[in-house]
Amino acid sequence: MSHKIAVLPGDGIGVEITEQAVRVLTALGLDIELNTAPVGGAAYDLHGHPLPPSTLELAKNSSAILFGAVGDWKYDKLAREFRPEQAILGLRKALSLFANLRPAILYPQLANASSLKPEVVSGLDILIVRELTGDIYFGQPRGVREVESGPYKGERQGYDTMHYAETEVRRIAHVAFQAAQKRSKKLCSVDKANVLETSQFWRDIMITVAAEYPDVELSHMYVDNAAMQLVRAPKEFDVIVTGNLFGDILSDEAAMLTGSIGMLPSASLNASNQGLYEPSHGSAPDIAGQNIANPLATILSSAMMLRYSLQEAGQADRIEAAVQAVLEQGLRTADIYEAGATKVSTSEMGDAILKALK
Ligand code: NAD
Repeated sequence: MSHKIAVLPGDGIGVEITEQAVRVLTALGLDIELNTAPVGGAAYDLHGHPLPPSTLELAKNSSAILFGAVGDWKYDKLAREFRPEQAILGLRKALSLFANLRPAILYPQLANASSLKPEVVSGLDILIVRELTGDIYFGQPRGVREVESGPYKGERQGYDTMHYAETEVRRIAHVAFQAAQKRSKKLCSVDKANVLETSQFWRDIMITVAAEYPDVELSHMYVDNAAMQLVRAPKEFDVIVTGNLFGDILSDEAAMLTGSIGMLPSASLNASNQGLYEPSHGSAPDIAGQNIANPLATILSSAMMLRYSLQEAGQADRIEAAVQAVLEQGLRTADIYEAGATKVSTSEMGDAILKALK
């Protein structure tokens, strides 16, 4: 059966980097149908909305979405609902993309890019599974109110609500356990169960779901300790699962361990494994249109797409091996360049990956 993939390049370098990922996907010889549509600022310019109905319809009717990046300073003055970034939130909501998967991989060839010592971080390969649609970011009630009693009576007070429903925790737990099954079968659930009721509930549900995955070893860690361990001994982790708030912070921390934002892919999945795949970086307007952006995060996002939405793990392995091979050959885009390497453009990096595909 033909796989339908929506290609949404977006703005800035989004256009150049998705072009290379599309070349790679096309070269695999799979039965795929790629359909391109505008999103973000590009869609606003054409249709007056960052996520026009035609783009949303295409996304809904595809097995997976390859997303470049959105945003440009020229849209900063628009009303919030018309800003390019609203397209991502709109897609997450419309497709119920509740599971965010962000690997942090540091290829040994790039060990010097990290601010940590090479021996601590070289060869790092961890996966953070972050719940994306619940937690304190969406909990109601929230707002600013007047305090009615106690020492601050009469003052204004800002407040939010943290909560997780059992279904929300169970479904992210299943995604994480299944991801762990595909890797080293170790899962660390990060919470703050010593202080928060929501976290204790999260932990209890994780333990219940663990019974369905006897081959996966589940451990628990408080978020403050996890933040420390990530910089002390990051390679001790394999798969981490956590809520929206903690995951937001820890996944950025893990990304920075690698020191090369142009290398990091991400996936956001729903319950039917339909997913949105995008690089972890933005549209980089400062270098857009110059053919110098690193396309590898987007190419690696297409590998995640093959693994998680299209059930083509072998093809994902091919792409990841090709990325390893070009790094081994010493090819580097400007962002990861160091003395002695061969500097290549966006499209030359695409050429090299195509050549390295076995
Ligand atoms: P950014 O990630 O776009 O860029 C940060 C820095 O990293 C820049 O110097 C940029 O040149 C560099 N960079 C990023 N990706 C690179 C790549 N592939 N190759 C080489 N260098 C790369 O973040 P920013 O500058 O804060 O934001 C720019 C725009 O992107 C804003 O409009 C922001 O809202 C948007 N943004 C979009 C997304 C998304 O689409 N998911 C995510 C983050 C930011």
